[in-house]
Parts: sequence; structure tokens; C-alpha cells
Amino acid sequence: MATLLVRHAHTLVTMDPDRREIADGGLFARDGFLEQVGATSDLPMAADHIIDASGMLLLPGLINTHHHLYQTLTRAIPGAQDVGLFAWLKRLYPIWARLTPEDVDLATRIGLLELAHSGCTTCFDHQYLWPNGSSVGDQVAAAHEIGLRFHVARGSMSLGESRGGLPPDSVVEEEDAILEDCLRAIDAYHDPSPGSMTQVVLAPCSPFSVSPDLMRASVELARDKGVRLHTHLAETLDEERFCLETFGARPVQYAEDLGWAGPDVWFAHGVHVGPAEIGRMAAAGSGVAHCPCSNMRLSSGIAPVTGYLAAGVPVGLGVDGSASNDGSHLLGEVRQALLLARLAAAPSLSPGPQMAARTALELGTLGGARLLGRHDIGSLEPGKCADFFTLDLNRLEFAGALHDPVAAAVLCAPAPAHHLFVHGRAVIWEGRCTCLHREQELIERHNRAAARLLAGD
Ligand SMILES: [Zn+2]
Repeated sequence: MATLLVRHAHTLVTMDPDRREIADGGLFARDGFLEQVGATSDLPMAADHIIDASGMLLLPGLINTHHHLYQTLTRAIPGAQDVGLFAWLKRLYPIWARLTPEDVDLATRIGLLELAHSGCTTCFDHQYLWPNGSSVGDQVAAAHEIGLRFHVARGSMSLGESRGGLPPDSVVEEEDAILEDCLRAIDAYHDPSPGSMTQVVLAPCSPFSVSPDLMRASVELARDKGVRLHTHLAETLDEERFCLETFGARPVQYAEDLGWAGPDVWFAHGVHVGPAEIGRMAAAGSGVAHCPCSNMRLSSGIAPVTGYLAAGVPVGLGVDGSASNDGSHLLGEVRQALLLARLAAAPSLSPGPQMAARTALELGTLGGARLLGRHDIGSLEPGKCADFFTLDLNRLEFAGALHDPVAAAVLCAPAPAHHLFVHGRAVIWEGRCTCLHREQELIERHNRAAARLLAGD
């Protein structure tokens, strides 16, 4: 029964139903679950591990709801730097076709470490091609060693160029094999229990890389096994055109027609979605992973986040990428979500209220938990997981903003996590990762792997 006590935080942000922010706050956890959250004076005096969080802002761990960790190996690739989604994908598919299991392992570690430094304690990853024998198991093993809570997609592509899809035939799989492996991954890795460290999501890639048959079969299998569903949807106008020409329907309608609607479904991007479609998504409970940096990087458009929130569509944040961001800084993504929402409102700046820092933070915590179907993360409350991070308020970034450190965490330049704990275990300690593998060595191996992948051009 290991106990953990964090005390004397300058401010503790609970994200509980009352959105309490507690001065001189702290928490007490046992075996990875919170038992008490409150003023330091109300907490026990002793524990197995005690952290003095004086001068720190203490926040619930951020939750990333859309990523492609393998793409950390292909950031800033020449030829994919200044183009839109379809040209970007066509440049990258052949490079990704060379990925090995070791590459997937390395990229998963690097991407998760980068996320951890940015305050992220739970990550959903959407890998949708599995070349050269790579598998979901490579990712699960790597995530386990890094120590982040991991929701892994058994993603897929089945519609190659010869059948009218965008990807080359060399990176798509047979649909029967995909479904078999989905079942295997769920049985091997999906843990629905409270405090679960690993869950599996079925995630066919996108309307232009997967057949309607596979979309339908994925829904059936996911609902039979009680796992969630994810896909890219309404990301760009190219995709909208593809859907209209190929299926005679806009993306949201196409998805709905195949059974892709409900509280167990969340879409990446949801950029080109109209008011009537937003209304239907809200009624069904379908959610959106908003990825502002990627949408700006690929010039995809601005997602109607304010409309989603007004209608009650669940919204979380994703860094996406890492070839379309090209970073994995989740606190930075919280800031970008706020800034982009304000830009979207620019023509009618007056007198409408603007997205507040605390709203953006809520998308990155509670919003993410809702998309992943987790009731045990996203806020700091008794009974929930001890997933949290601290920011050192004495850093340059926050100088002059201490009158409101919670707003400062979002509005000021994104600062790195000082501590980061997942299920009561330290992943970042005083700004450094605690994992068994030295970070610098991983970076060097990752750079060699990236060079090898590009050299194959
Ligand atoms: Zn994506």
C-alpha cells in the first residue's frame, strides 16, 4: 500500500464539478488512486513519498486524444513541409512503408516522452499502417516502460490506389486480416477496469483509405467487444470532395450511414462540419478531437469548436502528428486551441465572449477523458487516478503573471512539466524523465532511424 503526499502547491486545479482551485493545496494518494484532495492543512502529515510543491501550480494530467507517434520519425520532411493533406500523405506513405518494429518502439517512446514533458499523462495513439511485422504490441510494450496511460488504436487502411483510395497498395492490408488482428489486440491488451493503463480502440484511418465495408465491420466488432471507435473525419475540403464524389454524401453523413454515431465514437479534426451536422453529432453524443496546430500546419481549416461546445458535442484536444505539427507539446496545444478559437471569432470580436484559458484547459483534461470514455481521469478528485503534473511558477515564462497562475499556464509561453505522475508514479521528476532508458540515448537512436527511413527515398 504505497502512499503519496503532495503538499503546499501554490494553487491546485481540481477540475471537479465545482471547478475548485485550492490555494496551498495538495493531494494524498494510495496505490495510484486519490484519497484526498484539498488544503494542505487538511491532509495527512505522513506518507511513503512526500513532495513539497511550494511555488508550483498543480494540475490534472492532460489527455491527448489524437496522435500518430510513429510520425516523430518523419518530422519536417522536405517535400511535405509546405503542402496540404493529400500531397503531404502521398509524400510520406512510401517512407512510412519502411517502418520496422524497432522504429515503432523508438517513436512511441520518443513521442510519449515529449508529451510527458508537456504535462500529458494519457495518450491515445492512432497508428494505421503496420509494415514489416510491426504491431500494436510494439507500442504497448514501449508505453508501459515509459509509464504513460496508453489508449492504442488498432488502426487500419484497406483501400489502396488500385481500388480508388489514396494510399499506395503497398501500405494497405486485407480486411479479414485487419479484423482478425483487431480481435487479437482487444483480447490481448484491452483493460476496461478503473485505473486501466491500456485500452484498445478500433480506428480505420479515413474515408479515402478504408472501404465502407471495413467501417461497418469495425463498428460491429467494437460494439460487440465494448471498445471505442475513432477515425479521421471532415479534415479537409479534399476529403469532402472525395466523399461527395465516391459516396454521394458529406463526411459526417457518410459516417452516420455506416453506424459511426454515438457516445463511443470520436472523430479526429471535424473541421468542415456544418450547423445541422453539429446538431446531429450532439444528439448522438459523437465527439471531436480538435487538433489546432495540425489544422494550421496543413492549412486544413478552422474547426467550429465554439459551435461544438455550444451544442454539447464532446471536444478534446490532440497534438496530431508528429509529421503535421511537428511537435507534441500538449500544453502548447491547449494554448493554440484558445488562440485559434479567438481567431475564428475575429470577424465578430465584439461583443461575444472569447474562449477563456480555463475552458481551453478543460478541453485538455475533462474533454479528453470524456472522448476516451474514462471516468477515472481528467480531474483531481477522491477516487480518481493520481495523474497530475506541476509547473514551476518561478520560471521566466510566468514572470509578471502570478496574480492568476491558472490563466498564465495557458496564456504564457508553454512551460515544461516540473513533476509528472501517472497512477502515483513519477514519470518526470524535477524536469527530467525517470524512465530506465536515458533520454539522450533514445534521441540518438531515433535520429539514426529517421535518417535511415529518409535515405531509402
Ligand atoms: Zn491524424
